[in-house]
Amino acid sequence: MARGAALGRYAALVDEAQGELAELVHAEVGKPRSEAEAEVARAAEVVHHFAGEAERLWAAQLPAGTLSRGSWVRPDPIGVVAAITPWNFPVALVVWKLAPALAAGCAVVVKPAGETPLAAWRLCELAQAAGLPPGLVSCLTGDGPLLGEALSTHPLVDKVAFTGSRRVAEQIAGWAAPRLKALSLELGGHGALVVLADADLELAAEVATVQGYVNAGQACYAVNRVLAPRPLAGELIERIRARVGGLELGPLVTERGLARHHRLLEDARAKGARVEGGEPLEGRRVRPALVTGAGPGVDLIDEEPFTPVVAVMEVPDAEAALAEANRPDYGLVSYVCGRDLGAALRAAEGIRSGTVVVNGWRVVVPYAPYAGWRGSGVGAELGRPGLEAFVRWQHVRVLA
Ligand code: NAD
Repeated sequence: MARGAALGRYAALVDEAQGELAELVHAEVGKPRSEAEAEVARAAEVVHHFAGEAERLWAAQLPAGTLSRGSWVRPDPIGVVAAITPWNFPVALVVWKLAPALAAGCAVVVKPAGETPLAAWRLCELAQAAGLPPGLVSCLTGDGPLLGEALSTHPLVDKVAFTGSRRVAEQIAGWAAPRLKALSLELGGHGALVVLADADLELAAEVATVQGYVNAGQACYAVNRVLAPRPLAGELIERIRARVGGLELGPLVTERGLARHHRLLEDARAKGARVEGGEPLEGRRVRPALVTGAGPGVDLIDEEPFTPVVAVMEVPDAEAALAEANRPDYGLVSYVCGRDLGAALRAAEGIRSGTVVVNGWRVVVPYAPYAGWRGSGVGAELGRPGLEAFVRWQHVRVLA
């Protein structure tokens, strides 16, 4: 199929441009080169995946008595897609929308965050270079509120695919919903790591530090709360502390994020929690912060910090851990560590979030959906649901 072949060429060009794209991400976001390279490599896998999916998006005939009578069900592209993306993963979050939308046959207008337009722009140029029809992919850079409103209200836009904050999501929904546009919203999280009584504590410490401080905490899938049984908490904190010491983080990308970091730590201290680290360094860099003795009512326990802070909370048992994991109005990514796989899987089933990672920290694979439950969003990206998000189905009922 021509669409699959064109996306295959696009995937090859993205592969070739991986070094250049990673350099742009490193320059725009300030994240360490290794993190920028990993983001781009994973994004390239996503383009390859959806190039393959373009070949597999078939029409189907539902069972019927004869070949000439029955129900044909065919996928039709949903239309023109506005892809509005944040600055924290400027390549990945464009690709998660662009690749499946193209695989479904849609036209896409990419609107990257004002802080990080360059990598997104390059991704769109590469789509042109791959021989996709002119105008099928375009990139609009500029003022977020102005362009966001223009795209979400434009009569020719059929779907708005948004990743970002809940505040902006509500505005976009306010524009798009009365115009009956399709909408997907991928929003923030407040990741919990549930540590079960038989957990490998070194692994739990690794998950807490890798995912707590990735991209200087500016990740929607970050571990924000580590929920540890009381007898293990002290040793776990020791192990996390030992790892945090050696970390060198990139900067916080916005002044607003920097101000929030200091406000959250000040609030935690004022409410009696213990804060280690978190001090300002040069520019917008800060030291990673480790917080103990904080509970509900402390702002960083209740709202997404989106800065490099991990709180360890002591809980009496697994039931209390699950209750705390599910307490804030978020449901994006959670983590469970426990040696008894049956118990770990039961805990995973009890967590109300779109993704639960058991005994590890690698979250995203192209073939599985990434979905925000509850206050973390509407709809899903990646996997089959992330492709069908750009499809409208037509049922042709043949009665001849
Ligand atoms: P943001 O909501 O401020 O911005 C997101 C996009 O919306 C940008 O392109 C921005 O220019 C645009 N925008 C800003 N104001 C607008 C307005 N008034 N109207 C229309 N568009 C507007 O988000 P951010 O600060 O860039 O990103 C951080 C948030 O994104 C965090 O909450 C994070 O958890 C979330 N996030 C979620 C996922 C996910 O997959 N669920 C992934 C990454 C980040």
